[in-house]
This record gives sequence, C-alpha cells and structure tokens, in this order.
Amino acid sequence: MAAYQIGVIGAGTMGAGIALVCGRKGHSVLLLDSNQAILEKAQSYLLSTLAKDVEKGRISEREKEAVYQSVKPVQDIQQLAGCDIVIEAVSERMDLKKSIFKSLTEICRSDALLLTNTSSLSITEIAGGLDNPERILGMHFFNPAPVMPLVEVIRGKKSGAEQAEFVYQFAQDLGKVPVYANDTPGFIVNRVARPYYNESLRILGDRVASVEQIDQILTQAGGFKMGPFELQDLIGIDVNFAVTESVYENFFHEGRFKPSRIQQRMVQAGTLGRKSGEGYYDYNK
Ligand code: NAD
Repeated sequence: MAAYQIGVIGAGTMGAGIALVCGRKGHSVLLLDSNQAILEKAQSYLLSTLAKDVEKGRISEREKEAVYQSVKPVQDIQQLAGCDIVIEAVSERMDLKKSIFKSLTEICRSDALLLTNTSSLSITEIAGGLDNPERILGMHFFNPAPVMPLVEVIRGKKSGAEQAEFVYQFAQDLGKVPVYANDTPGFIVNRVARPYYNESLRILGDRVASVEQIDQILTQAGGFKMGPFELQDLIGIDVNFAVTESVYENFFHEGRFKPSRIQQRMVQAGTLGRKSGEGYYDYNK
C-alpha cells in the first residue's frame, strides 16, 4: 500500500482517532485544529493509546515512537498544501465545512482528494460551486474511529466514480469495512439511529423511565452494545443534536426526526457528555 501525506482537519473526538488510524498504517499525518488545547489533548490521546498497544505487546516501543512522530500537529491550513488526501472532521456545521472546503480547493493540488467525515450533511452542498468537485466525497468513520470497522463512502452529485472507488479501497487499506451510501440526510447509519435517540428522549420526557433504566433495558435485555444515553455522551451531545437538527431540516421537517428540547437545553448548558465531563452521566467522579 502506498504511503500518503494526509491532512486531518479537526483534532476532536473523530479527528484524533482518524489520525491514529492513518498513522498506524504508515501514512504521514498533519493534524490541524484551530484550538491549541485540543491539539495537545489529541497528542496525549495518541501517546496513551499507543502506550497501551506496547503494554499489550501489539507493537514495540520503536513502532510506538514512529506512529506518534508520524502525526504532526499544525494550526495553519496552508500547511496542508502538499497533502494527497485531506479528511475534514470539524464541528457539524455547513457554513464551517463550506468555508474549509473552499480554502482547500484553493490551497491543495487539483487532484488531491478532499473528504469530509460529516455524519449527516450534504456532500453535494459542501462541494457546491467549488472547483474540481469530482474529488470531494464523504468518508464517514464511526466513533471510536480506531475501533469501529464501518466507513460510509458517499458520492455527492458531482463526486467522481473513480475517486469513490479510490476512497473505498483506501478505507479497506486502513483495515475498515467500507459501504457506499447515497448522499441523503444522515446517509445510512445516522438515519437508522435517529429513532433510537429521539424515541428514548421522548420516553424520558414522558417520564416513562429514567436515563439509567432506558440504558439498562436496551443493553441488558435488548442486546444493544450501548444504551441511547451513554451513546450520546460518547458521541457528544452537541454533535448528536446537530446531526438530528440537520436530518430534520433536510427531510423538510418530517415529524419523526424532530429534535428534542432535552438535548437542546443540555447543549445550551454546555453539558456535552464525556468530553465536557458531564452529560446524562457525571464523568468527573
Ligand atoms: P468535536 O467537537 O470533538 O471536534 C471538532 C473539532 O473541530 C474541535 O476540536 C474544534 O476545535 C475543531 N474546529 C472547529 N472549527 C475549526 C476550524 N475552522 N479549523 C480547524 N479546526 C476546527 O467533534 P467530533 O465529534 O470529532 O465531530 C467532527 C465531525 O465528525 C462532525 O462532522 C461530526 O458530525 C462527525 N462525526 C462525529 C462522530 C461522533 O461520534 N462524535 C462520529 C462520526 C462522525
């Protein structure tokens, strides 16, 4: 497998994990975030995860150092000029993604692949009006990126077929299980997952059962790996809410996708789940 120069934009929950996935396969990664503290947190995450790999005998100390050194934190998007592939993983906001892709089309080579890890937003809209839209596609990893095998490969209206095949192969080379998904709101998994969160929030709002009870019932008796509330805490309640809002908006306000006020209030309060230390559960203890 060829080694690529890869740019990952956004070093949060997903970006840090994607950078690790690429670094482990021998690619050079430039990990960009506008927030220095997040970049430092991403580096400690890389170091501690790789240290666990050494402890478990999966890699040597030397390999750990090589993977760690292959992910370089950067803060200026101009530094991504030489990248073969850029994977964007910033917050789930169309305005933000559009402005980043506009900059990338100006900065990067015209054949560099520009991919977005969006959970729900339209690839067609992200690429709308930009030069060389054939190289703009969705490459949607799942959380935690180093663990979850699935990757959705999404073609917008103007994404190229050859480029989609390349992304599919690239995902396989990263050890993932890719699937093609059409460019519709939430693609496959996040569309299927909306009722899991939304109905659980309605059950909570109707005081039928508590957060703990709903999580317990669905995991212990229902066989789900994680309950809807612990899963939202893992994903980030802001991210989950933004995805629901975007799916609702883009399905022209179909009632079944209507976002929950419980989530809205939590986002407003800054209780975002594990990353803020508090969500449906308290992680400060
Ligand atoms: P996050 O909030 O953890 O991280 C987003 C990062 O983007 C932050 O560190 C922020 O500082 C950075 N950022 C914002 N604007 C920027 C800019 N202009 N330049 C550089 N960095 C910038 O979010 P996340 O959970 O990692 O989600 C990122 C993307 O991945 C979203 O599109 C989300 O929908 C998608 N996604 C999330 C999950 C999940 O479970 N959290 C799963 C799959 C896909």
